[in-house]
Amino acid sequence: MSVLVYTEINKGHVKKSSLECVNYAAKIAALTGSTVTAIVNNADAALLEEIGKAGAHKILSVKNDKLNSDSMLICTMVEQAAKAESAKIVVFAFDLVGKAVAPRLSARLKAGLVAGAVDVPVVNGNSLEIKKNVFSGKATAVYSINSEMKVISLLPNSFPITTSENKASVDDFNVDLSSVNSKILVKEVKSTDDGGTIPLPEAELVVSAGRGMKGPENWGIIEDLAKNLGATTACSRPVSDMHWRPHHEHVGQTGIAIRPNLYIAIGISGAIQHLAGVNGSKTIVVINNDKEAPFFKSADYGIIGDAFTIVPKLTEAIKKFKANQH
Ligand SMILES: Cc1cc2nc3c(=O)[nH]c(=O)nc-3n(C[C@H](O)[C@H](O)[C@H](O)COP(=O)(O)OP(=O)(O)OC[C@H]3O[C@@H](n4cnc5c(N)ncnc54)[C@H](O)[C@@H]3O)c2cc1C
Repeated sequence: MSVLVYTEINKGHVKKSSLECVNYAAKIAALTGSTVTAIVNNADAALLEEIGKAGAHKILSVKNDKLNSDSMLICTMVEQAAKAESAKIVVFAFDLVGKAVAPRLSARLKAGLVAGAVDVPVVNGNSLEIKKNVFSGKATAVYSINSEMKVISLLPNSFPITTSENKASVDDFNVDLSSVNSKILVKEVKSTDDGGTIPLPEAELVVSAGRGMKGPENWGIIEDLAKNLGATTACSRPVSDMHWRPHHEHVGQTGIAIRPNLYIAIGISGAIQHLAGVNGSKTIVVINNDKEAPFFKSADYGIIGDAFTIVPKLTEAIKKFKANQH
C-alpha cells in the first residue's frame, strides 16, 4: 500500500508545493506503515532525483504531451496511478490544480476529502483526523476521514521542506487518456510573472501595499524594498480593482490566500477580507500612518508613520545590512 502524491513541474523545477506534499506524504506513510509513490509528468533525471530527496520511495514517471491543465486529464492520470499502486491515500497541494482535481478524484474513488490541510494527520484506527483552517483562517477544525480511500490537499507553506539523500526507484507509467472527452484545448500559456520572482503562493517573503500608496506611480519604493529583500509583491483588492497593480497580486478572501514567513503590509488598513488571505503568515509587519488601523491588532511588529518616509529607509537599512554580510 502506498500514499500517492501528485507532483508538478513548473519552469524546469519541481513546484515547492509539490515537494511539501512529498514530505507530508512521507510523514503519513511513516504513521500508517506504508510507502510514498509520487506521480509526475515530463520530469528529467535531475527533477526525479529532487522528488526522491523529498521522501518519495517510488516515482511513476509519465511522458505524455496530451496532459495539459485540464483537470479531467490530470484526474484520470492520478486515478489510474492510485489503482495501479493500490493507494489508499492521495495527496495534492491545495493550489489551482489541487482545488480542481482533488474533489473530482474523491468523487470517482468514493473517497473522503479534506481540502486545505495544515497539519500531519492523527491516525485513529482506519480514520485520519486532519486539521484545516475554517472561517477565513479565524479558527481551525479537525475533520475525520473514515472512508477506505482518502484524498487530502495540503495548504502550501504549511511546513518547511526537509530533504535527505533518499533515492526513489523510477518506473515509467503509461496513462490511457482515450476515455477522457476533454473539452479544454490549451493553446498558449502566458506567464504572469516577470521572470525571476517567486509566485505568490510559494513565496516566503512578501511585500504588500494598499491604497495608502495613493497611486500606481508610487510603487517604485515597494518594488525596491521587495527586490532588496528577495520578496514577491502583493496588494490589497482595491489596488488591483483600480488597475494600479495586476490582479494576480491581489491577496485576501477573494484573492490568493498566502502563508509566507514574512508579510510586510504597507498602507493597508487590515480589513477582515484582506486578513482572511494573509493571517496564516508567520510574521506580520505593518506600516501605517494611522495608529488606529485595524491591521496593527494582527501585527507582530508595527511601524506608525508615513510609508513614503519609512519604506526607503527600510530599504537602505537592508542594503547596508547585506553589504556588511560580505
Ligand atoms: C465581499 C468582499 C470581499 C473582499 N475581498 C477582499 C480581498 O480579497 N482582499 C482585500 O484586500 N480586500 C478585500 N475586500 C475589500 C476590503 O473590505 C477593504 O476595502 C480593502 O482591503 C481595503 O484596502 P486598503 O487597505 O488597501 O485600503 P484602505 O482601507 O483605504 O486603507 C488604506 C490604509 O493606508 C493607510 N495610509 C494612508 N496613507 C498612508 C501613508 N502615507 N503611509 C502609511 N499608511 C498610509 C491608511 O491609514 C489606511 O489604513 C473585500 C470586500 C468585500 C465586501
